[in-house]
Amino acid sequence: MLDSLRSIIPSSQILSKKDDLTYYTKDFSYAPSVFPKAVVFAEKSNDVGIVLKWANANKIPVTVRGAGTGKSGGSIPLPNGIVLSMERMTTIKEIDTKNKMVVTEPGVILKDLQAKCLKEELWIPLDPSSLDKCTIGGMVTENAGGPRALKYGVTGDYVYGMQGFFGDGSPFKFGGKLYKDVAGYDLKRLLIGSEGTLGVLTEITLKCILPVKEEIGIWLTFETLEDGVSFVREIARSNVQPATAEFMQKECIEAVANHCNLHGDWGDENSHVFITLDGNNKSDLLEQAQKITANQANLSNVIIANDTETLEKLWKIRREISESLSGVSKHKVSEDITVPPHAISEFMSKLSDLDKGSLYSFIGYGHLGDGNIHVNILNTSQDEVNWEKDFPKLIDEVMTLCLSCGGTPTGEHGIGLTKKSYVTAFFQTHEIDLMKKIKKLFDPSNILNPNKIF
Ligand SMILES: Cc1cc2nc3c(=O)[nH]c(=O)nc-3n(C[C@H](O)[C@H](O)[C@H](O)COP(=O)(O)OP(=O)(O)OC[C@H]3O[C@@H](n4cnc5c(N)ncnc54)[C@H](O)[C@@H]3O)c2cc1C
Repeated sequence: MLDSLRSIIPSSQILSKKDDLTYYTKDFSYAPSVFPKAVVFAEKSNDVGIVLKWANANKIPVTVRGAGTGKSGGSIPLPNGIVLSMERMTTIKEIDTKNKMVVTEPGVILKDLQAKCLKEELWIPLDPSSLDKCTIGGMVTENAGGPRALKYGVTGDYVYGMQGFFGDGSPFKFGGKLYKDVAGYDLKRLLIGSEGTLGVLTEITLKCILPVKEEIGIWLTFETLEDGVSFVREIARSNVQPATAEFMQKECIEAVANHCNLHGDWGDENSHVFITLDGNNKSDLLEQAQKITANQANLSNVIIANDTETLEKLWKIRREISESLSGVSKHKVSEDITVPPHAISEFMSKLSDLDKGSLYSFIGYGHLGDGNIHVNILNTSQDEVNWEKDFPKLIDEVMTLCLSCGGTPTGEHGIGLTKKSYVTAFFQTHEIDLMKKIKKLFDPSNILNPNKIF
């Protein structure tokens, strides 16, 4: 296999020694590592077509990889397959200020792309917490979001054009620098969020917006989560549009305090809400902050951060939660379910009912405005053998609860490998069959990430 691979792609673009492959065996999920036969680095668009044609002829599974920061096992290869890494395709082809679009190769890291665009007074307001590592290609195929999705939407909302290759190695080009385009079926929407199963993206055209100049933060504490939820619901009905509205249980804040020694000037309330407002005029933002916090009977404490240092500190506390929960427990798995916003309180109250005494606890935090909750299952005192046996059943309980609240098993991270077993609970058989038929049309030989989603 390696000899025939070397006959189509230069050796400098191939890794095959076991030590060199280790990095490509896993992502950030709990799915087990798998060694591929080789890693191939695409350096230009044509390489992708050549590799896919070769893989079809030889029936070799191909797992495309960006930065491997995925949290559902999407970039974990098959043992008889290869990894097709996009990390060397990092050219930003054009920053088009006239049309407010950027055309880029898929291996560019979001943070780098944002920095280059900002120099031209253009902004891509996407903010997954992995933004300093994840690639734009991985973001499109996971349809990644982040806290700012509340105001600015998710990755797919910015994708106006794409080029790449279907599973059989034939090229495609959909959309472009077109703000309106309803010609034919919108196949780029199918590729967005397709988790590397329908095609390989080699060029992406993204819409940009003008950057905002000011941001302020408001940290609020409430006695109950329901009070926090109704507060955010009320804002949503006013003419104030927060950029983010995050919520955290007290346990999250305690974990950050213990793990990172980061503390805030708040009391001992159960429920924390962090809102940011952005725009171009700071006094307008402060006025909005006063307006939404005035006359709130259930509000225990308010911190308004209108300087960069305080704002950074509050963001740091929010961003450190995941790591801190790992730090204060023996093991942790997290899921990113989404429920309709009206069902957040119900979900959260039933989630705490799932706690298993001193063994396992269920902690939720996340995006209050859009119902995307990061559920963390913590092993607080169980031994490793029993934890390994128990945690899949604990995840089942979370998914059953999510389903009963009208939710979806994933709002950001995709199905990949880790949520495959829940697909039949959330979709009907004929719906899954339709998805499988679509997969077959895009990838007739089932070469691309064949073991993912279904
Ligand atoms: C600390 C941390 C924080 C995170 N925070 C967030 C968050 O806030 N919001 C969020 O949505 N996600 C978050 N994630 C998850 C992850 O960062 C995103 O899913 C990201 O979009 C993955 O990008 P990647 O380049 O690492 O892709 P990878 O993990 O390499 O791949 C992800 C999937 O995309 C496919 N793929 C990659 N590139 C291509 C391509 N060019 N063509 C076709 N398919 C391709 C792969 O096959 C795989 O199925 C976080 C992850 C970590 C580790």
